[in-house]
Amino acid sequence: MKNNLSNNPDNLFQKKLDWDVVQSDMKKKFGIDIFESWLKKILFIEEFKSYILISVPTRFIRDWIASRYLDQILQIVNSYNKEIIRIEFIIENKNNELKSNINENDSKINNSLQNNVSFIKDSFIQYNRLDPNKNFTNFVVGSSNKLAFEASKKVSENIAHYNPLYLYSGVGMGKTHLLNAIGLNLKSKNRVMFISAERFMYQFVKSIKSNEMVRFKDYFRNADVLLIDDIQFMNGKEAMQEEFFHTFNALLDKGSQIIVSADRPPSKLLRIQERIKSRFAGGLVVDIQNPDYELRYKIIKIKADELKYFNMDRFHINDELLKFISFEVKTSIRELVGALNRIVSFSKIYNKLPNISETKVILKDLLNMSENKVTIDIIQNIVCKYFKISKNEMLSARRSRYLVRPRQTAIYLAKMLTSKSLPEIGRSFSNRDHTTVIHSVKTIEKLRKEDNELNVNIDTLKNKILYFKENEV
Ligand code: ADP
Ligand code: MG
Repeated sequence: MKNNLSNNPDNLFQKKLDWDVVQSDMKKKFGIDIFESWLKKILFIEEFKSYILISVPTRFIRDWIASRYLDQILQIVNSYNKEIIRIEFIIENKNNELKSNINENDSKINNSLQNNVSFIKDSFIQYNRLDPNKNFTNFVVGSSNKLAFEASKKVSENIAHYNPLYLYSGVGMGKTHLLNAIGLNLKSKNRVMFISAERFMYQFVKSIKSNEMVRFKDYFRNADVLLIDDIQFMNGKEAMQEEFFHTFNALLDKGSQIIVSADRPPSKLLRIQERIKSRFAGGLVVDIQNPDYELRYKIIKIKADELKYFNMDRFHINDELLKFISFEVKTSIRELVGALNRIVSFSKIYNKLPNISETKVILKDLLNMSENKVTIDIIQNIVCKYFKISKNEMLSARRSRYLVRPRQTAIYLAKMLTSKSLPEIGRSFSNRDHTTVIHSVKTIEKLRKEDNELNVNIDTLKNKILYFKENEV
């Protein structure tokens, strides 16, 4: 079974079950809290004749899902494919990767791509899916997001004060929340259009196919306020960028407000036309930084108080737990809120609050406590040393063969051994695009099957990295 997976290079594009759709059904069925806390982390690995294989980060999460949600998940799956009679799990445990040569990468990549794709699929153009729960009132302000918050508020009070407004940050830091809040504030008096860049592309292509370009153009050019989320996903596709650029200018000319979010500053956007980037850079560009402890605590405290207020927290999550979570969950606000939801779920089921050691188990995949954690930096150092190249060479744009393989190898290992997303990995390699990351992973994947020497090298490197000790590099 596992060999089937790795022997089939086309595997990536052969999924029959649309996991995006299943996920969106799960969201509807279980509600956003349960989905975000427990189900979102499920990776779809492979569909077999009578069962599907999914992966989850820890045993605890597997047991939790299996005992509470599995039947209903199966029902959802069955509504798309009746032949599936069971769901099997694997635990996505880094140590297991050493023992077996499971080739899960294709599916992981496929999944992380899918996760980025919005799931709305129907009428002509989908926009204005504004979420009433993401507003200015419940956006908690700290030093890392103060500027972004203030700029967003100003824009929503005083049209075309900063135009365009460009917000950027890593994932889960509140960009979509702010865009949504701006949309909510302005929608009563303006034609607001809120769309992700991916959806924009999707609609664009669809409109061309169905001869509806005129309608497409009209839709966008009629907006008083255009909010575009995750602009980094709009890359390539000249004709579409052309259309975007013209729409953009037309809107600015008639005084419409444009707000854009991205995971990086305008200058670092890849494969987006220079003139579009400079348009972005010409407005107000603001970033949201990682939340510090203070903000994390403030957010978690407010959320916990809300739970109390709505009587959803019978056990009154105590300050010790709140401090523990805010201290340990540093990666993003999304994960922070997810951590709190897990504690609440736990306390409902077990009729008590978890103690700290139970909390560590419940939140294992969100905590950053393992000592010898593999970082991309460590991978780069070890790979450079092994191939006798300098780190500057590895990170340079040079394409000499003696640099390309080590670079691809390091990218591949970063994907295998860390939980970083494709764009994050790309960023650590001198801001390469996530498609370059995919390409490298697939290349090494393929070479591993053909080139035994390379295969052995990679296994050696993998061991070196996993057993990395400070003094070795
Ligand atoms: P991004 O778009 O940057 O990936 P989101 O806007 O989706 O992040 O935020 C992730 C989650 O965290 C959402 O549920 C959002 O409501 C919440 N969130 C983010 N920042 C804040 C904040 N400052 N105060 C309250 N909730 C926040
Ligand atoms: Mg977002």
